[in-house]
Amino acid sequence: MTFRNLGLSSDLLRAVADQSYTEPTPIQQQAIPAILQGQDVFASAQTGTGKTAGFTLPLLQRLSIGHPGKEHRAPRALILTPTRELAAQVSDSVRTYGKYLSLRSAVIYGGIAIGPQIQTLRRGVDILIATPGRLLDHLEQKTLDLSQIEILVLDECDRMLDMGFIHDIRKILAKLPSSRQTLMFSATFSKTIQQLANTLLKSPTLIQV
Ligand code: AMP
Repeated sequence: MTFRNLGLSSDLLRAVADQSYTEPTPIQQQAIPAILQGQDVFASAQTGTGKTAGFTLPLLQRLSIGHPGKEHRAPRALILTPTRELAAQVSDSVRTYGKYLSLRSAVIYGGIAIGPQIQTLRRGVDILIATPGRLLDHLEQKTLDLSQIEILVLDECDRMLDMGFIHDIRKILAKLPSSRQTLMFSATFSKTIQQLANTLLKSPTLIQV
């Protein structure tokens, strides 16, 4: 199995080759084709399985096709993570794998000044990586428009729920278009996670690694 077999474009294959990855990991082998086809995905995967590239690569490819090319860009993909550290890591992955594409990404989390984040959003962003609390601050201040979101990723969903983010997540979900692709990643499949998946996902592809 190669990354090329999974249907990735040459710009993404080049970025993968720069990382010297020789073979897609099991989660990448299952998630990449499903996400490229536009399916919702519910994946149970621990950190270290290559899950980040598993959703980032196909997300970048889908956004790179049919780019609206507007002057001002409201985000088209939203990746929610439980912690700042994870948001920063995912943001690095988006930049690494997207380096040959002309998509703009930004990361938004609490504990730092909100002003520069507002400036970044004003300039236009295609992919937004965020923790729920600070994202909600932006929504309440009306400095963020989530009406153009095509793809939503909930990364480490179980940790987000453990950290008490469910209410924030629900408020954020209410601002998103209902016709979108949703990807849920979680290390565990608890009853609460399952219930959330049932309300959010449409005929999801289930992946367990
Ligand atoms: P993650 O599970 O997303 O946190 O990724 C764990 C680590 O695996 C990261 O350091 C990635 O750079 C690396 N990685 C992701 N995909 C592959 C691959 N196909 N081959 C080798 N390493 C990879």
